[in-house]
Amino acid sequence: MQPLDPKIVLPLLDWYACHGRKLPWRRDQDPYRIWVSEIMLQQTRVETVLNYYDRFLESFPTLEALAGAPEEKVMLAWQGLGYYRRAKGLQEGARQVMQEFHGRIPRTRKELMSLHGVGSYTAGAIASIAFQKREAAVDGNAVRVFSRLACFEHCLEGAYRKELEKAIEDIIPEDHPGQFNQAVMDLGSMVCTPVHPRCSECPLQGMCLGKQNGTAQNLPRLPEKKSKTLEEYAVLLIFHQNTVLLEKKTDGLLKGLWLFPMVPGHYTENEISSYYYDHTLESPRGLLCCGHTRHIFTHRIWEMTFFTLESHLGGRLFPGACPMTADMLEEHAIPSAMALGVREAQQYLRRWNGSRENAILYI
Ligand code: SF4
Repeated sequence: MQPLDPKIVLPLLDWYACHGRKLPWRRDQDPYRIWVSEIMLQQTRVETVLNYYDRFLESFPTLEALAGAPEEKVMLAWQGLGYYRRAKGLQEGARQVMQEFHGRIPRTRKELMSLHGVGSYTAGAIASIAFQKREAAVDGNAVRVFSRLACFEHCLEGAYRKELEKAIEDIIPEDHPGQFNQAVMDLGSMVCTPVHPRCSECPLQGMCLGKQNGTAQNLPRLPEKKSKTLEEYAVLLIFHQNTVLLEKKTDGLLKGLWLFPMVPGHYTENEISSYYYDHTLESPRGLLCCGHTRHIFTHRIWEMTFFTLESHLGGRLFPGACPMTADMLEEHAIPSAMALGVREAQQYLRRWNGSRENAILYI
């Protein structure tokens, strides 16, 4: 990989001083707050993170508070942000800092990368922004900006990504490493955008090979996308009096979160009624299909059909499940994939009022 042109640094920093986004995690250089923001921003839009960041830090204002909090409380504060593994990794990382680094977040890329959930990009961002280290933070924005600027034709994965990190570190200015990385992030998300780069507004247009060659729009070369696996489920909202059953996921995707019991496969009302009877020897009362949703994860898609039914034998079919009232639903971390079920369950439970007929009537 050819070296990057150091002449881009000054115009980039000048542009950032005028146009950089004023974001809450840029108010100071606290490594804990930067860490939280970087984890939240993974695969999530800035606008979404803005709704969660301050609230999360009110609940866990310090690294110690996060490390010592019950996991359930952390999941609840993360509810709606998705990719819950990030929240678990963040808390595990905080606990690791308390145990292995005497409560002080380490300053080097290598040590930062030894923490749970901290990869090369996050380590580079924390080291450069909080500790003014000349470390590159190569996210999708940086890959796009530099691929276009220098006309890199390779797909910047694996070894090439490492080479790009090195090339960036060679031009990162001593006195403003954090601003430099943040400037690249902002340029990539505001000007050098994936589909229609706004080259006429770009402070680097005079030095951009991609613009000069007319190839900018086709860069970067992206790795081939893996197709997602489609999975179908029947999701059962099993009510008994003023409760509905939920199960805590103990492994795999969404581990640690609470979900309504799910049966793999596609079912009609009659088929799920027979399924229930076969396993409990009871025909469920009031069985209704209350809707379909699709939830897209990184590598798979869930197609879900939600059913409501009434039975006191749900525990026989789902032995680990827990009956929850409407208030309890609000106190447990339930992923957004279950949003339709939560809405239906809340409606049912709030109107239950001691009578099944009352509740069914309003569903
Ligand atoms: S000139 Fe255009 S392609 Fe080049 S870095 Fe700027 S916005 Fe991106």
